[in-house]
Amino acid sequence: MKNTHRPDICLVLMPYGFSYNMPSPSISAVKPMLENAGYDVQCMDLNSKYVVRNGMFDKDLLKTTCAVSYGEFLDTVSPDYLKFLDEMVDKIVRMAPWVVGFSFYFRPAWHASSYVAAKVKRHLDCTIVAGGASIDTTVIGVFQRETPASTFDMFMHGESELSLLELLGILKEKQYPGSLDEHTLTQLVRIIPGSFSLKDPILCPLNIRKDVVQNLDDLPLPDFSDSDLSVSKTLPVTLARGCTARCAFCSSRRTHPEFRMMSGKRAVMVVLHLQETYGINNFYFSSPLINGDINKLRDMCNEVIKNNLHFTFSGLVRLSKQVREEDIELMCVAGFRWIKFGLESGSGYVRKTMGKLEGQDHVYRLLKRTSESGSIAAVNIMHSFPTETEEHFNETIEFISQFTPKELAWEGWPFNLGHTNNALLDRAFVKKFDIAVHKVRELTPGKPTFALDVEWSNINITGKIRHDRQRRLQAFRDEWLK
Ligand code: SF4
Repeated sequence: MKNTHRPDICLVLMPYGFSYNMPSPSISAVKPMLENAGYDVQCMDLNSKYVVRNGMFDKDLLKTTCAVSYGEFLDTVSPDYLKFLDEMVDKIVRMAPWVVGFSFYFRPAWHASSYVAAKVKRHLDCTIVAGGASIDTTVIGVFQRETPASTFDMFMHGESELSLLELLGILKEKQYPGSLDEHTLTQLVRIIPGSFSLKDPILCPLNIRKDVVQNLDDLPLPDFSDSDLSVSKTLPVTLARGCTARCAFCSSRRTHPEFRMMSGKRAVMVVLHLQETYGINNFYFSSPLINGDINKLRDMCNEVIKNNLHFTFSGLVRLSKQVREEDIELMCVAGFRWIKFGLESGSGYVRKTMGKLEGQDHVYRLLKRTSESGSIAAVNIMHSFPTETEEHFNETIEFISQFTPKELAWEGWPFNLGHTNNALLDRAFVKKFDIAVHKVRELTPGKPTFALDVEWSNINITGKIRHDRQRRLQAFRDEWLK
């Protein structure tokens, strides 16, 4: 009989190496779900731990997370960071969980995860799995190139808490077999939707998990008790999962194939619980969009106002005809102080081809109303989309010029074709907008990267043009900010 005092699972979130003012929503959501199913769950939020220990901007960590391969990670990792990781390995080994689950919330955490996982495996007979959003947006080939195949027993796509529950059920029944042999793995990845193993990559594309947590009101309350919140000013709240739109460049549907949103009442209950438990009043709705169901968003705002609650909120809003100026006003009265809109381009035509709202006046009024109502309006700008001519690019600059730096916050970067831009590789889309990729090459030949340099047959946005537009946008921004 195995030692029953070992926890069933330890969930590990690695440091991801950029500015931090709130913990990740990932392990805080998975932990209570597994606990409700009867499992003994331990969590290690190494991201908050490391930031509290080393400060917000740790140059050594930033350098390490930019490493493009595991070998480069080992060459560049600082002795201090390695010492920290070794301490964490010791903790995990002493804790001795039957399963260790790594959250790949952000891609830069991979190499450190591989390092810790490999060391844990050397000292502890356990099953090692990895899940999280960055797994869905990564081609399997990149995992194969970057991750030693024997380190992780299994990976999980999509909303991996469901796959994790199924895996734990099976492993517990087998009295936790530890590291999984190839035969067992092949059997498991065939029966657990969303799971795959590098040892059996043929199944990967066929094994996307299609079922999801249908009603977000049924999710247990998030648990941040394992995160060091001493430098956190904000807590994340998953108001919605998935998106109602299908923008041509976006990969959000790979992680969450269906859109779902919490009811207004439940959202307020979650926020109240977090405020009471952790004494924090600022909340960021960490969802691809918060207005996928505008009535639920209005309900939530009305509920906050009716009960005279005092929070501050921020979140991402999709620009759509459904959103009226009064909605923005309502959100600001309820406590929104930062609203980010997926504008991407100042040209209505380019937005239309992206699958976004075309109407210039409506977009302009919503952004103006946000700042007039006392909130910061922030937008993304993505130049060099394959339908963007020189005139469209100039339209973007003219559009932004209508705002002052006090009214609008924005950053610009070029469009990159990655494997997740399915629409651009879709024949109907390509035909509709006369787009054809005729040259694609990796920006850093031979090195794993998502970014691809593309020339299009209709407009021909070469790498040179992209770089030139980036430079001009930056020059405009510098002048505009003066
Ligand atoms: S609205 Fe945002 S999250 Fe939704 S598909 Fe478009 S870019 Fe992606």
